Amino acid sequence: MVYQGNPVSEGIAVGKIMLYEPFVPVVDTTALPKEEIPAALSRYKNARNSAKKELEALYSRLQQDDPGKAKIIKAHMDILFDVAMEEEIQDAISDGKSVEAAVDKIFRKYIRIIGKSADERIRERASDLEDVRCRLLRNCMGVKEKNLAVLTDPVVVVAKDLFPSDTASMNRNKVLAIVTEVGGPTSHTAIIARSYEIPALLGVPDILFQLQNGQEVIVDAVDGALITDPTDEEKEAYRGKKVQFQEQTAETKKYLASDGVTKDGVKIEVELNIGSANAQEVHDIQYTDGVGLFRSEFLYMGRDTLPSEEEQYKIYRKVLMQAGNNPVTLRTLDIGGDKKLDCLELPKEDNPFLGNRALRLCLQHRDIFKTQLRAALRAGTIGNLWIMFPMVGSMDDIRNAKAVVREVQQDLDRENIKYGKNVKFGIMIEIPSIAMIADLAVKEVDFASIGTNDLCQYTTAVDRLNQNVAKYYQSYHPAMFRLIRYTVEQFNKAGKPICVCGELGGDKLAMPVLLGFGMRRISMGIASVARAKKIISRLDLRFAKEMADKVCQMETAGEIEAYLKDSLKDVI
Ligand code: PEP
Ligand code: MG
Repeated sequence: MVYQGNPVSEGIAVGKIMLYEPFVPVVDTTALPKEEIPAALSRYKNARNSAKKELEALYSRLQQDDPGKAKIIKAHMDILFDVAMEEEIQDAISDGKSVEAAVDKIFRKYIRIIGKSADERIRERASDLEDVRCRLLRNCMGVKEKNLAVLTDPVVVVAKDLFPSDTASMNRNKVLAIVTEVGGPTSHTAIIARSYEIPALLGVPDILFQLQNGQEVIVDAVDGALITDPTDEEKEAYRGKKVQFQEQTAETKKYLASDGVTKDGVKIEVELNIGSANAQEVHDIQYTDGVGLFRSEFLYMGRDTLPSEEEQYKIYRKVLMQAGNNPVTLRTLDIGGDKKLDCLELPKEDNPFLGNRALRLCLQHRDIFKTQLRAALRAGTIGNLWIMFPMVGSMDDIRNAKAVVREVQQDLDRENIKYGKNVKFGIMIEIPSIAMIADLAVKEVDFASIGTNDLCQYTTAVDRLNQNVAKYYQSYHPAMFRLIRYTVEQFNKAGKPICVCGELGGDKLAMPVLLGFGMRRISMGIASVARAKKIISRLDLRFAKEMADKVCQMETAGEIEAYLKDSLKDVI
């Protein structure tokens, strides 16, 4: 059987499926006959020991990759062996409760007590208890762990959708490919998959119900197909296609460390998009002209407490040091929309992408915003820090954000704490209302960066994650190109830096058009950097300008795409 999907991260994989669905424990409350009590007690201890082994394995892996997350796992081990809870669970079993019912009852009791605490930090521990409850119950029921962080065999992960925290904690060495029912090229799953170079096929409708765990598949994330139960001939053919793909990728990779200079000798700044600032991302900075987008919200994800000022300061410093004199564009916390945090409960909204998101949320949660700004400004004493505000829609937004910056600067002055005095302040252009007044916005800021992922969402009025309307999310819509052209012209006229850090920046068809508009700065995930530099080296800017002019006269996204494919066939 062949299913079609959207190949958002190119590559080919042959392997077995793991259906990824969160575990939901259903507890059996049947009373235990007296003679079964001793066996139940030892079953409880066995389950607790298996849970401990899982946590130990996770702990030792995270200790190297992510010490912050490792600490949380250590706390989970302490909960698992909490003496008071352990005693109460054993008493409940001895009173005739089933193992699962006893574990469930005692954990729920403590979750309730802790959840009512007046101290927010103690209240936050309830979600750790909940996590350990599920882990222990799953082990009591003999169900194997399904967690992308602790995969033991290489698998093709199939899910309805993946949360950013799933992908952030995923053991990437064991994920052959990702297949999901929802999501498109600008979803976070797509962005992470590309940066990890994991083939990903998204938007395959109802696929969870068609597949089984362990079933063999071929994921062709070049041409957008998922082939189930392949024959030996098909597997052979795809192994050949994979080798060919890998050879092409290796050829392109030769450009990774080169300078982004066009055929006619113009230097283009090719910058990097990063998330959690892990060792790999920090290493990759050397191949680029700086960090064009640091999605700082990844530092807040997959943890139960907000990152402290000191923790953030150290991370920002590390990135700034690695970048040297090149810019590090730190985007302030961008949550809401599709991005949620365990460490900050947000009210449910009917239209989260149009709701209290990013800067709007930071202006409301000033303490969180100020902590981040303090950490950033302090780190800004070294390197070349650019601070960027997301989801800006008006001049008021810019002025309100800058007012908070001034407050933080005054606090630091009062406390005699050193901070960067040459830090630049800029905005993301991702709402049409600010793009349309780029001539005014440019006067209030030092720089801007166009977030084409959201710009497309808000220009075409299409939820970027809603598969049912994916065909209306047209990144090549003429309105997109006209908005970008206008913005670039205004910033170039004012002599202030303008960049594109959305997915169009690294898109092989759109990027030459952006250069044609006069963009000289583009930022993208590491997976696109080598290809972008290769295209730049083969591109003449006069030709790019001609294309850009033509594109703005065209009527439909389809017409533009066909024209670019044809015009750029010798370049890409
Ligand atoms: C964008 O919207 O283009 C962008 C870069 O931000 P994000 O994808 O993180 O929303
Ligand atoms: Mg955005």
